[in-house]
Amino acid sequence: MLVAGNWKMFKGPSAAGSFCRALRDADLGDVDVAVCPPYVSLADAVQVLAGTEIGVFAQNCHWADEGAFTGEVSPAMLKELGVYGTIVGHSERRQLFGETDESVARRVKAALDAGLNVIACVGETDEERETGRTNDVLERQLSVLEPDDGLVIAYEPVWAIGTGKTATPELAQEAHAFVKSQIDLPVLYGGSVKPDNAKRLAEQPDVDGFLVGGASLDVGSFAAICQAASTS
Ligand code: PEP
Repeated sequence: MLVAGNWKMFKGPSAAGSFCRALRDADLGDVDVAVCPPYVSLADAVQVLAGTEIGVFAQNCHWADEGAFTGEVSPAMLKELGVYGTIVGHSERRQLFGETDESVARRVKAALDAGLNVIACVGETDEERETGRTNDVLERQLSVLEPDDGLVIAYEPVWAIGTGKTATPELAQEAHAFVKSQIDLPVLYGGSVKPDNAKRLAEQPDVDGFLVGGASLDVGSFAAICQAASTS
């Protein structure tokens, strides 16, 4: 079980340092744990969490080592910082910043080649689910990825992200089983995971952990989710 906290555009360096100091001392149960701070806070998180088992992931990375790509950060730069991995293809990147299946694939490959671990996100929109296209969308998004020891998939139905609408455990299980039929990798669930719904989701046979947004910003609720996943 891996529980990763996606902080999105929250917590600058000083808040990240305080959070990671508290996390170091928290009871996180028996799961793998990662935090995904914004770029500017990665160095502080790496420093505070050095010597612990908690991994630090970026939220995205470019495919090139360096170049004229204003606003982007390369896998080599993340490695130099001591970052353990990166999220790629989050639905907010796809929907708000024009990421495509092809750009996601390039980023994933470059990050893996550089020795970073990758959480690659897939998931359908509300409209895609309502019109019966969930599996087609997942199949398309996964078709550009290849299994790798450093890669895990996060199934994040877009309609459940930041909305308080969580997938039912049964629906999550069904989607995770479909994802695994397409690519043989661990699959995290993401979409309004909270301390009170984490246990039932984690009990599903094909749920291998969580990618948590909002509830990962508070040490208490993040630790409670880790504990719920740990006892499942
Ligand atoms: C996410 O950002 O990956 C996410 C799942 O957010 P939330 O938990 O807030 O829905």
